[in-house]
Amino acid sequence: MRELLKNKGFKLTPQRELIFSIFLEQRDHVSVDELYDEIRKLDSSIGYSTVWRNLKLICKLGLAREINVGDGITRYDQVTHGPHGHLFCVKCKKLVEFSVDKIVGFLDQVAEDKNFQIESFKIEIQGLCDDCRALNEKTSV
Ligand SMILES: [Zn+2]
Ligand SMILES: [Zn+2]
Repeated sequence: MRELLKNKGFKLTPQRELIFSIFLEQRDHVSVDELYDEIRKLDSSIGYSTVWRNLKLICKLGLAREINVGDGITRYDQVTHGPHGHLFCVKCKKLVEFSVDKIVGFLDQVAEDKNFQIESFKIEIQGLCDDCRALNEKTSV
C-alpha cells in the first residue's frame, strides 16, 4: 500500500494511512458514513471530507470500487473480494455477495460470440432477504 501510493505520487500521511488500513479491514461494503464512524472512534480529528476524499483515492488506486444499489447510498467494495455479484435487500439494506463463476463462463461465451472484449461488469440484484420476508409474513397475518 505504501509502495502503491508512492509509485502513483501520493503522500502517505498518518491520517491517510489510518483511513486506508481501517477501510481494508472492513468485511462489509461500507458507506462513507460507516467508515467515518469507525475512524472517528480512533481519531476524532479526521473530518468527513477527508474520509470521503481518501475513499475516492482508494478507488482511483484500484483497491475498491463504488457500488450503487439504488438506495442513494454509495458503498465501497474491496476488489480483493474478487469478482462477485450482490444481492441487496431493499428493506434492511443488507448486501450479500455471491459467486459469479458460472456467470463469468457464460459472459465469456457471449463475448466470444459477439467478438467483444469485456472490461468489467456488475451484477446487482434487488429483493428481500430471508429475515425480511419472514417478517413480512408475520405482519401480514
Ligand atoms: Zn461486494
Ligand atoms: Zn432484509
